[in-house]
Amino acid sequence: MATHPATVLGLPKPDWAGDDVAMLYDMAEKFLDAEIAPRYEEFEKAECFDRASWKKAGEAGLLCASMPEEYGGSGGTYAHESAIIEAIGHVGVDGFGISLHNSIVAPYILHYGSEEQKKKWLPKMASGELIGAIAMTEPGAGSDLQGVKTRAEKDGNHYRINGSKTFITNGQLANLIIVVAKTNPSAGAKGTSLIVVETDEVEGFERGRNLDKIGLKSNDTSELFFNDVRVPTSNLLGHEEGQGFIQLMQQLPQERLQIGAGAIAMIERALSLTIDYVKERKAFGKAVIEFQNTQFKLAELKTEATIGRVFYNDCVARHVNGGLDPVTASMAKYWLSDLQNKIVDECLQLFGGYGYMNEYPIARMFRDARVQRIYGGTNEIMKLLIARSL
Ligand SMILES: Cc1cc2nc3c(=O)[nH]c(=O)nc-3n(C[C@H](O)[C@H](O)[C@H](O)COP(=O)(O)OP(=O)(O)OC[C@H]3O[C@@H](n4cnc5c(N)ncnc54)[C@H](O)[C@@H]3O)c2cc1C
Repeated sequence: MATHPATVLGLPKPDWAGDDVAMLYDMAEKFLDAEIAPRYEEFEKAECFDRASWKKAGEAGLLCASMPEEYGGSGGTYAHESAIIEAIGHVGVDGFGISLHNSIVAPYILHYGSEEQKKKWLPKMASGELIGAIAMTEPGAGSDLQGVKTRAEKDGNHYRINGSKTFITNGQLANLIIVVAKTNPSAGAKGTSLIVVETDEVEGFERGRNLDKIGLKSNDTSELFFNDVRVPTSNLLGHEEGQGFIQLMQQLPQERLQIGAGAIAMIERALSLTIDYVKERKAFGKAVIEFQNTQFKLAELKTEATIGRVFYNDCVARHVNGGLDPVTASMAKYWLSDLQNKIVDECLQLFGGYGYMNEYPIARMFRDARVQRIYGGTNEIMKLLIARSL
C-alpha cells in the first residue's frame, strides 16, 4: 500500500489540528483527488485553471475557510487554511492558487476593510465568483517595495490608477485585485496605500502575458496594466491613505507561514513517493532501499523533515494564538523552502533517470519547488529581517 504523505513522518497530530481541522483536511483531500487531480495535466498544459474549478472549490467549502460565517466563510482559523494547503501539497496539485486567495487576499479585506467592503467582497470570494490577487511587484520594484511607481491619484470621489505590475499570481483569472499604489509619492513608505480593483467593473485595466515559468505551470502568473483605471475612493483599504506599508508588514507573517505550509507538505509527499519507489525498484539484484546509502540518505531526510514539521507546527500554534512574530515567520519561510528544495532534489536522485522524466511527479515537484525561495520575499530578504533581530 502507498505511504500517505500525512503520516510518513509518524508524528502525533499537533493540538491545533483538532477534529474540525482534520475533517476539513479529509474533505479537501477527497475533493482535490476527485475534482482537480484528474484535470491537473490539462491545467498544466493550459498554464491556467478554469473558473469552474474555483466555483466547485467554493461549493466544497475550500474558499475563505478562515473568514467569519457572517461574510460567507466557514469561521475557521489559519489552522483550517493550513489543512487545505497541506491537502493541496499532499495530493500534488500545487498550482491551484486558492491558498493565496484564502490566506493572503481575503485577510486584507477582513482586517482592513469597512463593514460594507467585507459584505460586498468576502461572500463572493467564498463562492469563487471573485478570484483574488495581490499586486505588489513591478518591473522595477520587487524586494524593494518602496520603489513602487504605480500611482493612485484622487479625482473627486475616485482614484485614477496608473502603472504596471508583474509576476502576479492568479493574474489571468483574478477579478478582485489588491493594488499596492502610491497615493502620495513624496511621503515615502507613508505614501503607499492598498486599493481594491474589481476588474469586471472598470475600464483601462489590461492583463499582459501569462508568464512562461519553469514550474507551477497551472498557476497563472501575469503582467497587469492599469491605464487611468477609475475606482471609487471607497475601495481604499483602511480608514485613511498611507497605511499600505503597515498593513503589508502586519500580514506578512501569515503569508510567509503559508509558504512554509506548502513546503512541508511537498516534503512529506516527496518522501512518501520516494520511500515507495525505492522499495519497488531493483538494481544489482536487490531493491534500491537495501543499499545502505539509500537507507542513510532517507534516514537523514526523514530526520530533517521531522525537524521542519515540528518547527512548522510550533509556528502555527503560535500564530493561531496571535503570537507569531515576523522574525520567526521569516525563519519558517526561508528555512522550510530551502529544506524543501534540498529534500526534493535528494529524493529525485533516488529515482535515477526516471526522476528526470516529467511523467514522474518528483520531476514536477523539483520544478515547482524552486520558486518558493523567491516569492513572498526572497530568502535573502528573510535573512535580512532575521539579522535585524540579532
Ligand atoms: C511565480 C511567482 C509568483 C509571484 N507572485 C506574486 C504575487 O502574487 N504578487 C506580487 O506582488 N509579487 C509576486 N511575485 C514577485 C516576487 O515576490 C518577487 O519576484 C520577489 O519579491 C523578488 O523580487 P524581484 O523578482 O524583483 O527580485 P530583486 O528584488 O530584483 O532581487 C534580485 C536578487 O537580489 C537579491 N536582493 C535584493 N535585495 C537585496 C538585499 N537588500 N540584500 C541582499 N540581497 C538582495 C534578491 O534576494 C535576489 O536574489 C511572484 C514571483 C514569482 C516568480
